[in-house]
Amino acid sequence: MPHHVGDMRLDTVFEQRRPVFSFEFFPPHDDAATRALFDSIAQLRELEPTFVSVTYGAGGSTRTRTIELVTRIRRELDIEPVAHFTCVGATVEQLRVHLDAMRDVGIENILALRGDPPRGEDQFAATPGGLSHGCELIKLIHDGYDACVGGACYPEKHLESRDVDDDLRYTRMKEECGASFLITQLFFDNAAYFDFVARARSSGVTVPVIPGIMPITNVAQITRFTSRIGATIPPALMDALSSRQDDPDAVLQLGVAWSTLQCSELLAAGAPGVHFYTLNRSPATRAILSALLAARPWDRAR
Ligand SMILES: Cc1cc2nc3c(=O)[nH]c(=O)nc-3n(C[C@H](O)[C@H](O)[C@H](O)COP(=O)(O)OP(=O)(O)OC[C@H]3O[C@@H](n4cnc5c(N)ncnc54)[C@H](O)[C@@H]3O)c2cc1C
Repeated sequence: MPHHVGDMRLDTVFEQRRPVFSFEFFPPHDDAATRALFDSIAQLRELEPTFVSVTYGAGGSTRTRTIELVTRIRRELDIEPVAHFTCVGATVEQLRVHLDAMRDVGIENILALRGDPPRGEDQFAATPGGLSHGCELIKLIHDGYDACVGGACYPEKHLESRDVDDDLRYTRMKEECGASFLITQLFFDNAAYFDFVARARSSGVTVPVIPGIMPITNVAQITRFTSRIGATIPPALMDALSSRQDDPDAVLQLGVAWSTLQCSELLAAGAPGVHFYTLNRSPATRAILSALLAARPWDRAR
């Protein structure tokens, strides 16, 4: 059944519906890229995602474009959008101005993050009068706005966390501050997700933990990306990728097949859904989700 906007706080959706599929996009830089993005979204729309999310550019560089894109997706495509939002480069007062603007255009779901540092800087530095941690932004939204708020979590721990226990403590704090769902950083070995969820549950986290999956489409890009965020590529997958790196089609096919196996196992084990990092392209995600919808691995979940 298609979803219609207007009655779609994600906390309610997660209570009523399993599995939940979603796609993440970033705001394009120019008109041609915007047209290409809308083509991608239109193709993926046929797969009836529960929601799509739109990132907030590093350093707050997409401040107005994120809201504009979210508003267009909601109005023109009738898909529930989730707006990402970060603490970067803004005082609490400025964060509130932006949150008021989101409220005024009817955005009901926000993914609240600390944010990555602006391009060219490698350390996050809180703005004077601003916020330092994801949980503080979650609390600001939860306490002051009538929106459903989610946060990020890291199966292989956040790069800056001292250890797994510290990381888990701050993950739990996100729920205590008002997060009603968590989306994971990308990972390629499901054991990382299963172990993380087991640890999170035993430390008191109760909200849905949605696995975030990125289909590999380019070897150089994924190598760069994983090392930047502190995620690992299992050696056997890396070997298979390396031996194909001069053959883009073979890399894409392997990436799609790997993600499909990953998602199938996650859903058969009861994961609440899958959030796809699409990089604004449709073919890989479309192939994976089409196979999942036909095979329905969640029917095997207990
Ligand atoms: C699903 C998803 C979507 C994302 N979307 C975006 C986006 O749109 N735009 C963007 O710029 N970035 C985005 N990111 C990246 C994110 O901003 C970075 O991973 C960032 O480095 C951490 O964000 P966070 O909210 O998890 O931070 P935090 O929860 O603040 O964690 C950052 C570090 O601080 C530590 N920490 C947390 N709380 C405390 C505390 N109270 N005291 C001391 N230490 C603490 C944590 O252990 C961790 O090491 C996304 C990440 C994910 C997983």
